[in-house]
Amino acid sequence: MARRSPSWPSAASRVVGIIGDPVAHSLSPLLHNAAFDAMDLDWVSVGFRVAEGEVRDALSGMRALGLAGLSITTPHKDAVVGAVDELSPVAARLQAVNCIVPREGRLVGESTDGEGLVQALKRGCSFDPEGKHCAVIGAGGAARAIVLALAEAGAGEVVVVNRSAERARKAADLAGDAGRVGPPGDVGECELVVQATTVGMAVGAGERPNQVPIDPRLLGRGQLVVDLVYRPLVTAFMDAANERGARVVGGIGMLVHQAALAIELWTSAKAPVDAMWKAVRSVVPGS
Ligand code: NAP
Repeated sequence: MARRSPSWPSAASRVVGIIGDPVAHSLSPLLHNAAFDAMDLDWVSVGFRVAEGEVRDALSGMRALGLAGLSITTPHKDAVVGAVDELSPVAARLQAVNCIVPREGRLVGESTDGEGLVQALKRGCSFDPEGKHCAVIGAGGAARAIVLALAEAGAGEVVVVNRSAERARKAADLAGDAGRVGPPGDVGECELVVQATTVGMAVGAGERPNQVPIDPRLLGRGQLVVDLVYRPLVTAFMDAANERGARVVGGIGMLVHQAALAIELWTSAKAPVDAMWKAVRSVVPGS
């Protein structure tokens, strides 16, 4: 791969990016560019605002412009499934794509969200899901990716707790024999609790909603609690879990590691995770 010249970025630079709507708030280009800097690669990442319904046009553009990779965010993760040439086994199981990798002229849809969380647990928290009792609160796109990744990482049990029973069942099915639907009360028996609903997420700038998805009195010592929400950085659920004596982490680790996996898929080189963390911390103090 070409190293950077003093004239970077130039007409020779390889371009990757993220498509979504909205997209201007995304930390992905920051993470990708921090990786390319540390790897001394002549690559650059940018955001592309793509309106709902325009994914096929965006992917035609990707082909015509020779983009070296794309990350996918809301609202396109499902629509991309039908617009790529091929799906990885994980993306096919989830019917969702968060990363496109060009391979021999074909666009391959991948899903790095679930494995991103598993890597964040292993590297950032020294927590290996193998054999562990895990609970996932929520059954949307992120929750489903995590249920599958935890099962593939050898979790002993993955209990899905969700408001809508039918979606909970579909998510739990992804974990095969290890998966089941459970009531909120079952969370108390789990070593890992992943909060994967949108509850607690800020809608406005500086906002910090008070809602929590389950009664925090179900949480306690000996548990690792992960909240996927990273805006705000510390949610009401995280504070409550902390007060109950649980070990608590937010969603930035998963964000960093899913981006690191995308870098590795695009460049076939090891991603500089520490440099990516440093870049996030420079713009999100306290992360
Ligand atoms: P999604 O597909 O829209 O799913 C939303 C989930 O939240 C559903 O299970 C839904 O339950 C549940 N929910 C929504 N409002 C609720 C309420 N008032 N009470 C109880 N449950 C409620 O969203 P997603 O894409 O999975 O994202 C979920 C969260 O993860 C978001 O905050 C997102 O920002 C975050 N996320 C973080 C990362 C990361 O890298 N850290 C990556 C992806 C996503 P029903 O099924 O009953 O509707």
